[in-house]
Amino acid sequence: MKKIIIFIGPPGSGKGTQAKRLAQKYGYGHISTGDLLRELETRTDVEPEEAEALKEMKKGKLVPDWLIYRLAFKAAEANLNAGKGVVFDGAVRTKAQAEMYQEYFKGKGLQSEAVTIEITLSDDEAYSRLTKRRVCKQCGEIVSIVDQHYDNCPRCGGELILRADDAEEAIKKRIQTQGNAALLPIREYYQNLGVLKVINGGQPIEVVEKEVEETIQ
Ligand code: AMP
Repeated sequence: MKKIIIFIGPPGSGKGTQAKRLAQKYGYGHISTGDLLRELETRTDVEPEEAEALKEMKKGKLVPDWLIYRLAFKAAEANLNAGKGVVFDGAVRTKAQAEMYQEYFKGKGLQSEAVTIEITLSDDEAYSRLTKRRVCKQCGEIVSIVDQHYDNCPRCGGELILRADDAEEAIKKRIQTQGNAALLPIREYYQNLGVLKVINGGQPIEVVEKEVEETIQ
């Protein structure tokens, strides 16, 4: 099995859910830059330039690349140096980032260990999913309120809240900046490298999970 698995896809495509499941199953490190940024926000030792950069996130825009590299490489380093695999979740959102990660893997002699999985979803479907999404304040579980109403987190009973960037205006902005149009150059980059696998994210979670597993074996 490959050591480095990179998930790309529009917001709401389910890449976070799949990345988490995969990492847990195989003991890989789960590197979600969104989670790392949200964690940084809660820290008291956040640097002024970092705090400034984090403001972009609330508006649904991309944060600057330097902050992504600072957080993602640090997280990857610990895992890769310990011989563990890693799953990147939302960590690549521009072609420049894709190239920078590739350089990083190359520097470690791991470029042939990286595979990219695109979870596809239309922008309309992404919008519909995101407006019906809540997150547990306690355990971070993502809950969809499309089919079922939940008062509390079905996993731990914690309070369900709307993420700041899941407010309607921020969702529109995120789809504009991170949706299918924005993904095109990234998809093309990985396609040219010959490492891109594509899975239909409109399918039930378990079906996507099975296809992800088949892809990386
Ligand atoms: P996520 O939880 O993956 O949906 O990410 C939440 C927000 O964090 C995004 O809307 C961006 O503002 C920011 N973010 C996460 N990953 C990246 C990245 N690789 N590059 C730039 N911004 C990012």
